[in-house]
Amino acid sequence: MKKIAKKKKYTKKYKICVVGAGHVGLVAAACFAELGHKVYCVDKDKKRITSLKKKSIPFYEPDLESLVKKGIKSKGLVFSSSLPEAITKSQVIFIAVGTPPQADGSADLTAIENVAQVIAKNLNSYKLIVGKSTVPVWTGRKIKEIIHRYKKNGNDFDVASNPEFLREGKAIYDFFYPDRIVIGVESERAENILKDIYGSVKATIIVTDINTSELIKHAANSFLATKISFINAVSRVCDLAGADVEKISLAMGLDRRIGKEFLQAGIGYGGFCFPKDVEAFAYISKKLGYDFGLLKEVKTINEQQRSNFVAKVKEHLWILKGKKIAILGLSFKPDTDDMRFAPSVDIIKTFISEGARLYLCDPQSLNEAKKIFKPSEKIKFTKDPYEAVKGCDCLCLLTEWGEFKELDLKRVKKLMQYPLIADGRNMFNKQRISKLGFEYIGIGK
Ligand code: NAD
Repeated sequence: MKKIAKKKKYTKKYKICVVGAGHVGLVAAACFAELGHKVYCVDKDKKRITSLKKKSIPFYEPDLESLVKKGIKSKGLVFSSSLPEAITKSQVIFIAVGTPPQADGSADLTAIENVAQVIAKNLNSYKLIVGKSTVPVWTGRKIKEIIHRYKKNGNDFDVASNPEFLREGKAIYDFFYPDRIVIGVESERAENILKDIYGSVKATIIVTDINTSELIKHAANSFLATKISFINAVSRVCDLAGADVEKISLAMGLDRRIGKEFLQAGIGYGGFCFPKDVEAFAYISKKLGYDFGLLKEVKTINEQQRSNFVAKVKEHLWILKGKKIAILGLSFKPDTDDMRFAPSVDIIKTFISEGARLYLCDPQSLNEAKKIFKPSEKIKFTKDPYEAVKGCDCLCLLTEWGEFKELDLKRVKKLMQYPLIADGRNMFNKQRISKLGFEYIGIGK
């Protein structure tokens, strides 16, 4: 992260309020402060703000802690639970609150509405209000309507959209070295402010209207999810045909029109973005009059990958009741402790319902996991993979953490009661594993 030092050359600084100190908001707040802006980071969760003031980070994200500490020390980053106060002190307000899924697949925009109302009531000067949360198209328009409806004076404002594309686990890097920055605006003033704010970040800036900007985010995430589901569907055909999906991914990915990213078969995508964004995009498309059937299939294939994985394990172990299964990897992907909509959750729940005894292992997610699964005689937790596999009938690999790649497999085999590896992320080479004397379950190979 040393290259960030270049930023100092850029002089135009803003007073920024970031609403929401979550995976997106906290990262954005710390990074904006690093760029030299004065940042007020607000969250309605008072406990979170109290711990942040004490420099305690609420989730695992590489490099975030040092950046937050630096921001606090320089006084460029201030945490607060008073939204009105932060708004009145700021020129630009980034909204980075959660937009969770509702039962019908639509995004719950209650938090966005609440924040818009507070902004309206505290509009003490011109402000630029920027949507950073992932939202359905027309949300910016609604924010504008709400502010007009509730504002108490003639002060002017602009609404803009600046969707976030960061990847958890690489969030700080992605902020400073993004593939692109998208800004959706309605005025030159808003465009110039956003260009100033990101002035020292070297990236292609795509300027568009607000509706298009909102749609870019939904389209991008849905496309990535589609790529994953596509290769997962191919993996099912490979299982049936006795072919190797990894070789297919390699050959397909070398075609530059396709690209190799997001083309690895496995137990499917999870996390706080893809599942909800695919659903929300299908929902809003339908509401607008277009039935985006492709996205429904993307979701179905994704869900089937989990049940198909469990079915394969059952095929090998026959009865799961009483069997000991080690689960290596709980977070929805490596380098994060985030377990929201992680494939591991559904797989573990099925194993539990079948009466298996589980040893859950993850380098970072154990605290999150304990919020979902209560420790008991049948569910144990450890950070140590060798402890997890001791006496087990099957090792299920569900997240491709680097440390699992480095496992001493000879030692693992000695510790296991029965040497069966179910590799949900195709991390291991099948031939090598088989040579070591393991039975191996892969995805499409
Ligand atoms: P999060 O759940 O980690 O954080 C949201 C935060 O907002 C929470 O701390 C919550 O307490 C706070 N909040 C909610 N309502 C509030 C209110 N009225 N006032 C103040 N604070 C409030 O969520 P996240 O992962 O940071 O995601 C935020 C948005 O960014 C979502 O729309 C998400 O889809 C999008 N996004 C997430 C990622 C990601 O990788 N997590 C990436 C890109 C975009």
